[in-house]
Amino acid sequence: MGMMTGIEYRESLKLLKPEVYFMGEKIKSILDHPAFIPHINAAALTYDMALAPEFEELTSATSHLTNQKISRFTHIHHSHDDLIKKVKMLRAIGQQTGSCFQRCVGHDGLNAVYSVTFEIDKENGTNYHQRFIHMLKEVQNHDLMISGAMTDPKGDRALAPGKQKDPDAYLHIVQRKADGIIVRGAKAHITGAVNSHGHLVMPTAAMTAEDADYAVCFYVPVDAPGVIHIFGRQTNDTRKCDCTIDQGNEEYGIVGGEALIIFDDVFVPWEHVFMCGEYEFAYPLVERFATAHRQNYGGCKTGLADALIGATYLMAESQGAQGAAHIREKLIDMVHLAETLYCCSIACSCQGYALPSGSYMADPLLANITKLNVTRNIYEIARLTQDIAGGIMATLPAESDWKDPKIGKYLEKYMKGASVVPTETRMRLTRLLEAMTCGTALVESMHGAGSPQAQRIMIWRQANLEHKKRLARKLAKIKE
Ligand code: SF4
Repeated sequence: MGMMTGIEYRESLKLLKPEVYFMGEKIKSILDHPAFIPHINAAALTYDMALAPEFEELTSATSHLTNQKISRFTHIHHSHDDLIKKVKMLRAIGQQTGSCFQRCVGHDGLNAVYSVTFEIDKENGTNYHQRFIHMLKEVQNHDLMISGAMTDPKGDRALAPGKQKDPDAYLHIVQRKADGIIVRGAKAHITGAVNSHGHLVMPTAAMTAEDADYAVCFYVPVDAPGVIHIFGRQTNDTRKCDCTIDQGNEEYGIVGGEALIIFDDVFVPWEHVFMCGEYEFAYPLVERFATAHRQNYGGCKTGLADALIGATYLMAESQGAQGAAHIREKLIDMVHLAETLYCCSIACSCQGYALPSGSYMADPLLANITKLNVTRNIYEIARLTQDIAGGIMATLPAESDWKDPKIGKYLEKYMKGASVVPTETRMRLTRLLEAMTCGTALVESMHGAGSPQAQRIMIWRQANLEHKKRLARKLAKIKE
């Protein structure tokens, strides 16, 4: 009971037996497999930072349920200060990991489900909220890491869940029993799934009465019978198996370690069911979760950008280019782009408000603006990094060649930049920049927390264009 250290988190994973597959192999222990170790390290750091005196003001909180000190990743926001501290926490952790640390998705799911279950009960006289509070206390008291499982495979995008040729394209209820429900389907791109303790499953879109069986929200332990994880590939992931420097970020990897989770007729007892057919509440749940997660992106991504900008500057120094005026200008642009994202996250937190449950959420319009900016600014930051670093990012020979007794001396000699900087430093920086700006890492900035089009739809809904038209009519003295 109580907050865990990183070591205790790893020990807690040993007690679980999730069904996990990767590259055709059934994984016996994720703790001992190189594909998973960096992601576990990143998640473990969130535990250690919650207890570290220099970070605990941001990374821990006081439970409104038990009055105990808890990890902020299990806390329900109850003020603007909570919303702002979340963003600052994400930036602080991102600076240390240079990669996704995964726990925010479940945290945002907990906040979304907390507020929506309160409103379902108020409307329908159900008891989802009390059930959820019971589960939340377990999560807080045991400092559990929960994945937030929202995105369905979706099949034919032109068809609603209930109209799909394959009824399992969206996760749905297949049976209601006296003691619980049976669910079938899948959730895709789920961050930190295999090294979580359990999954908080939520619907992914607005639903109609025809889709009522798809309006389902519940919690399952990661190793519940019928829950199967198929771990996704990442750019250069085989480097995790046969090298260290060439990984770029050996300790924490790139992105969050995403998995496809299959629910093959999984039984969920009623005490872990938080929505069961209340289709009118599917959209509010999606919106709350999306707002919470999009709020984050100017936090964690700015933390990553801090490390990336530092690495880019070091790279320029390693090549003797740090004095060039254009390098300075590009670094200024990178800082401007990163801090703009941070401004957005702080702004949507400051403009947040209380929901009927008493919990707080960020401003939805500004949170969606934040994430849409991330889909652009992070690419521009990466472009500037690649501009400064040069073609070596795409052509640097392997670490094993540099270590080779016969040809290593040539790489040591010809891969050297400024005479005061060791060749190894330039190689390490090149690989870190490659890991942070190529392939999977960039795609995550585009589609994590929802694709740009999802943000544009919410921006259109939230923009209050009628009000803007009224302003224009008034100025132009045009009658309604
Ligand atoms: Fe957290 Fe950022 Fe990873 Fe999302 S992408 S889980 S906000 S670190």
